[in-house]
Amino acid sequence: MNTKLINNIEQFILEIPKVELHLHIEGAIPLETLFDFIQRRGGEASIKNLDDLRRKLIYTDFAHFIDLWVWKNTFIKEEKDFEEIAYQVLCNLSKQNVKYVEAHYAPGDYWRQGLSEQGITECLIKGMKRARDDFGIGCELILDICRDNGPEKGMERLNMLTPYLGKGLIGIGLGGSEQTFPADPYADVYKEAKERGFRLTAHAGEAAGPESIWAVIEKLGVERIGHGVRANEDPQLVSLLKQRQIPLEICVISNVRTGVCDSIEAHPIKQYFKQGLMVTVNSDDPTMFNTTISQEYLVLIKKLGFTINDLKRLSINGIKASFMSDRDKKLMEHQFEKEWEHLINKYS
Ligand SMILES: [Zn+2]
Repeated sequence: MNTKLINNIEQFILEIPKVELHLHIEGAIPLETLFDFIQRRGGEASIKNLDDLRRKLIYTDFAHFIDLWVWKNTFIKEEKDFEEIAYQVLCNLSKQNVKYVEAHYAPGDYWRQGLSEQGITECLIKGMKRARDDFGIGCELILDICRDNGPEKGMERLNMLTPYLGKGLIGIGLGGSEQTFPADPYADVYKEAKERGFRLTAHAGEAAGPESIWAVIEKLGVERIGHGVRANEDPQLVSLLKQRQIPLEICVISNVRTGVCDSIEAHPIKQYFKQGLMVTVNSDDPTMFNTTISQEYLVLIKKLGFTINDLKRLSINGIKASFMSDRDKKLMEHQFEKEWEHLINKYS
């Protein structure tokens, strides 16, 4: 890297054209927006400013993380809050030159507040449309049918939200407690979703090992793996991922924060990339993990020895691994090539 690039690396990273494929919209609410919600809902004595909120979100272990997740959700009171959430999340991503997002959402988490899953979906789609008009950023939703809720609930949710397929909803995902609830019982839900035209991804190989990744590939027929970070415990699995080029939605900082990896340096992303696996870069729950999609790219350069050319490949992998149509992929790839050329010239 030349001196100009070294001195301006953070700005350079910010300007890289990006795709985000593994982001939970409720875990990405900008701090300012969340603070605003807290104020509007009567405030909380311990949260007087953004710094207090930032400190509040530092958790001690995974159970504490879940507590904070639930606490944050209590300030979301109305379906139309989701319009604002989608708009502000996408505004924030577009400032980092993210062009396209596939965002997970879990509409089943808000029944206590009396919010309907259809209402939440419609409001998110409204926010997404406004963001597309104002910032040109594309977004599609992935319905998280959550392992903890059981396959019956998953099927019910699928039926309820199928009318939104192709209108802002593109796929289904499987979040929740991977260790406690294996993927196998969800085979029928995934089969049905596929027949209806949903695209398929699932979290696997994060809290559980390779067997969990095998299950989502063989039993659910997923097109992508959410995380897949523990694939390297099984060389046969690594060969399969390489041979079929099944994309991994890698979220380095999340994996360190939740204790899946001991440190950024210990993360296998570089190894996977070198082995020729289809790796993408994502931020998972950026607000909760105190990260950003730009930060995810930055640590690859600063701590894991990736080159600028590697980052270019990773940014284009995001397009290839997405659920966009082949035509849209081609158009976006062309746009990324042009932006990369411009970026390299600007910083050389
Ligand atoms: Zn996730």
